Amino acid sequence: MIKTSHIRNFCIIAHIDHGKSTLSDRLLETTNTIDKRNMKEQLLDQMELEQERGITIKLQPATMMYKQGGKEYMLNLIDTPGHIDFTYEVSRSLSAVEGAVLLVDATQGIQAQTLGNWYLAESQNLKIIPVLNKIDLPAADVKTHSKALAELLGIDESEILSVSGKTGEGVDELLKKIIEEVPQPEPVKSKKPRALIFDSFYDDFVGVVAYVRMVEGNLNSGDKISFCSNNESSIITELGIITPDRKKLGELSEGQIGYIITGLKDLGTVRVGDTIKLDGDNTTKPLEGFQEIKPMVYASIYSKDGDAFTELREAFEKLKLNDAALSWEIEQSVVLGYGVRAGFLGMLHLEIIQERLRREFNLETIVSVPSVSYNVLLSNESEKVVTSATDWPNPSNIDTVMEPWIKAEIFSPESYLGALMQFLHERRGNYLTTTYLTKAAGRERMAVLTYEMPLSVILVDFYDNIKSISSGFASFSYELIDYRAAEVVRMDILLAEEMQEELSMIVYKDESYQVGKRVVRKLKELLPRQQFVLKIQAAIGGKVIASERLSAMRKDVTAKLYGGDVTRKRKLLEKQKKGKKKMANISKGKVSVPSDVYVKLLKS
Ligand code: GDP
Ligand code: MG
Repeated sequence: MIKTSHIRNFCIIAHIDHGKSTLSDRLLETTNTIDKRNMKEQLLDQMELEQERGITIKLQPATMMYKQGGKEYMLNLIDTPGHIDFTYEVSRSLSAVEGAVLLVDATQGIQAQTLGNWYLAESQNLKIIPVLNKIDLPAADVKTHSKALAELLGIDESEILSVSGKTGEGVDELLKKIIEEVPQPEPVKSKKPRALIFDSFYDDFVGVVAYVRMVEGNLNSGDKISFCSNNESSIITELGIITPDRKKLGELSEGQIGYIITGLKDLGTVRVGDTIKLDGDNTTKPLEGFQEIKPMVYASIYSKDGDAFTELREAFEKLKLNDAALSWEIEQSVVLGYGVRAGFLGMLHLEIIQERLRREFNLETIVSVPSVSYNVLLSNESEKVVTSATDWPNPSNIDTVMEPWIKAEIFSPESYLGALMQFLHERRGNYLTTTYLTKAAGRERMAVLTYEMPLSVILVDFYDNIKSISSGFASFSYELIDYRAAEVVRMDILLAEEMQEELSMIVYKDESYQVGKRVVRKLKELLPRQQFVLKIQAAIGGKVIASERLSAMRKDVTAKLYGGDVTRKRKLLEKQKKGKKKMANISKGKVSVPSDVYVKLLKS
């Protein structure tokens, strides 16, 4: 059993791409946890997709043994995802450790998520170890960025380490500092075991694996345990440490980080943030901070190749096994057939799922315009959660609609603030504050804008716009704050006076007129001509707010004529015109929206 005084638990937090995974690789190598020969880049990013896109989706712990001053230490590292969609994962890993390496790219300096993650770590009272990374690059500006970082953290510049995750420079010093400065796990008097689940996933061979932090006491293989949030009980069939392969042990002791396997098959029972205790122990309280993960963004997914629904459904069943945040149900559309309505943590999560469907399941998909989930308070005082326009209640039954709001921080060089503020205003943002960071020599002053706005406005094109307005320099992070009343309505699209369910959408009342106009105009462009004049309309509660007419297909009635008999040609065309007029008045044929039109409309 290892003494708690020899354990150090820490994580690495940073803005995306600042080099967390690469530095983790060097730590594994320097501590001889992984042989250099077996080293491949970004080892902790195990998913193929993660490696290819260079992002971390699932957090990955690793236990390293390291000698320092004649003593052997157990260092438990958790690599964290850097993207805002996965903030809950970051906060879970933070509650499993005592220290955080705050990593900043020395060519970029502090970015939005540097701040976001630092706030999170601070609020959990972690010891922060500030580190500048990528000092091997010619563009690295250690001096400037140490100054800014020191100022932000209120420390002396000399306390900031400089490393290169690529060459390994400075990594020994970093390990030394971690041992010296990260506090050991706090010893507790109670010997009743309590373990925090900070991650869980499904393994094809052994079922659900839980990654845990032993907060108090010890757990042994064979112990009968239960989960505080649901009272399910189970027997530990295997436990051990993660190196990053699983290494079986007989016991996990206080302060340690490791894995527990119980043979349970349902990820829903082994929930992140939950507490494990001994079964039958009714006095031990759950650890704080347990939170159900709720999807924030909803979208419909259909296979492009209409009859691949069975494959799509099976793919979702498999994905769900390993992704507790994903929720889904079957949906049917007239245009696209059977599909799936699914809930996601955010836009990246949605993108990742779509990418995994393509890669791992060979499925090309069509994704609808995403929507947030609305809380609709009905006049009979009941409440309904609505995530799709098709389920929108009858307006006469609606009392109030509540929508999720976020607090956003946009981090940008000063010169783009005007344009950014203009854009945020257009996107219904409420301005809160501007904070300036100290100007570094030879660089533009950086500012942080804080805004409150509806979550719905960042679902489409938001990030791309922020990037293009700021020539790529601005970064963005957000957190959910609350639900607020929203003036939204359901807008329907009618073709030949028939409603097209899948084209319905929820829009802000004050924007509905413009949006309606835009959609019908676009549809006029995209739809094929019919035998008759096609009316394309946008309507709210039966009242038409925008309308276009697509003229009828012109049959080439003159095709049979040879030579240049102009008068005969004109006569025929005149006749056709009259006939059409008649048709337009009487005909209202049924129009079906081709699926490629639907796809193009979604894209625009
Ligand atoms: P993460 O998103 O924070 O996990 O960042 P990664 O570790 O995936 O690194 C992002 C990119 O920066 C990758 O292309 C790395 O190869 C590169 N990188 C990371 N650390 C260093 C470094 O110290 N020096 C150089 N030159 N490149 C680095
Ligand atoms: Mg990474």
